[in-house]
Amino acid sequence: MEPFDVLIVGAGVVGCALARELARYRLRVGVVDREADVAEGTSKANSAIVHTGFDAKPGSLESRLVRRGHALWTELAPALHVTLERPGALVVAVSDDQLAALEALRDNGRRNGVTDLRVLSREEVLRREPALTCDVRGGLDVPGESIIDPFAAVIAQAENAAAAGVEFFLGEPVQELRAQPDRYCAVTPRQTLEARWLVDAAGLWSDEIAGLAGWREVRVTPRKGEFVVFDKPARRLVHHILLPVPTKISKGILIAPTVFGNLLLGPTAVDGTDKTDLSLTADGFSTLLRAGRRFLPALQHEAIVATYVGLRAVGAGSDYGIEVDGARRLVVISGIRSTGLTASPAIAEEVVTRLRDAGLVLRPNPGYRPDRPAPAWRPGHPRPCADPDRVARAPAYGRVVCLCESVSEGEILDAMRSPLPARTLDGIKKRTWAMAGRCQAYYCTADLLVLLARQRGVPLASITKRGVGSELTTGPTRTAGGTR
Ligand SMILES: Cc1cc2nc3c(=O)[nH]c(=O)nc-3n(C[C@H](O)[C@H](O)[C@H](O)COP(=O)(O)OP(=O)(O)OC[C@H]3O[C@@H](n4cnc5c(N)ncnc54)[C@H](O)[C@@H]3O)c2cc1C
Repeated sequence: MEPFDVLIVGAGVVGCALARELARYRLRVGVVDREADVAEGTSKANSAIVHTGFDAKPGSLESRLVRRGHALWTELAPALHVTLERPGALVVAVSDDQLAALEALRDNGRRNGVTDLRVLSREEVLRREPALTCDVRGGLDVPGESIIDPFAAVIAQAENAAAAGVEFFLGEPVQELRAQPDRYCAVTPRQTLEARWLVDAAGLWSDEIAGLAGWREVRVTPRKGEFVVFDKPARRLVHHILLPVPTKISKGILIAPTVFGNLLLGPTAVDGTDKTDLSLTADGFSTLLRAGRRFLPALQHEAIVATYVGLRAVGAGSDYGIEVDGARRLVVISGIRSTGLTASPAIAEEVVTRLRDAGLVLRPNPGYRPDRPAPAWRPGHPRPCADPDRVARAPAYGRVVCLCESVSEGEILDAMRSPLPARTLDGIKKRTWAMAGRCQAYYCTADLLVLLARQRGVPLASITKRGVGSELTTGPTRTAGGTR
């Protein structure tokens, strides 16, 4: 078989956005990820905000790509049926120093091309957000800040790419890269994938992939971000994304509504060395609760339904690292730290432009469509089980499996039969929001396991949370041009 024109290592939001951008052209493109699904790395554990870039460093690559990404998501979200809402943000100052910083932040935003920022008085902030602490001194209105379904943001881009012929190899860690004069051989436990161009979009592990490719040293370290998710009744407490005044190291601990109807509090920012440490710490938890209650005293009466942890990929410099080495036909994307969800479609555009400049021939793919069919449900829309006509036509939409979130068997089956099918419990959760409600999977797991085992034709006992026990030897997914 002909080698891939481009092989992308990493099916996070960056790799999948790039796959979609490359799908516009007549190229053979592959995406390989060690996990059994897309969006299993940092891309599934972030604040889910599409940033305007008001607080980015003016003149940086990050600032330019976040601005462009924000604009692109405005078009992309409806085309891909990804839920995006624009509640806007308020940067809340609770001290004199912070109050003084607001004007500088506004000016910084203007330098980045975000011109609709406004400093608000204490009274106006409290009028808009009555549940805020009475310590508020003032605020900065950032109307463009948005919230998005972070899972669909990846899945939709990946599905769109797969529909246009991009091949996905999931559950296949790249363990070795052999650079030959005209191609790379990416060795996984299952096969060797050959490609003319290699793109390292491995997030936290981009240093490791760059090393395997024989590229110069890349430094990536994890910065832990812990989150707490409040149950849906807490959502009534806020109308905007509430941001603290940012510091040099972090955007700080925010309080944000989610498109799923919950309230999010986080993240912490703790530098570490262990890229697998996704544990919630006692310190982190109490830091979050303290920060949350300081802003929004009523939070102390609200129920927490979940916690999660994401790891930012911190590079050696403060800006994005995007390097295209034409001589080696290698792209290394690293240090996409806190804004990669927003910037992903712009990072993809940037990489494709640089690939073209480096000699990759781009001819339009006549089979490419920029949109994707609407899923049976997406956040912010009624569930299919609430539509009697639909249930009459397809009774599986009337058999509710997840009672907390009203997810029906029909939606679960759709998720398992989609272009990039859910093959794990987490995969079902990301696509349908089953198991994410108040009972946190207590009542529906057994039914979901049965459906999953039946669909995959494997024994019930072999299924684990993130895959099937023997995934790596028996079950990688190959989509699009391949088998499934
Ligand atoms: C706490 C926190 C909050 C954030 N909040 C926001 C926000 O609100 N808005 C925003 O825009 N951004 C936010 N971000 C940043 C954003 O989440 C990241 O920039 C983005 O998800 C990075 O995507 P990625 O594709 O580069 O990495 P990842 O999603 O980590 O993908 C890399 C992939 O590479 C795969 N991989 C690694 N090694 C191998 C190998 N050897 N073989 C095969 N595959 C491999 C991994 O399995 C993984 O799937 C936040 C991040 C964190 C941690």
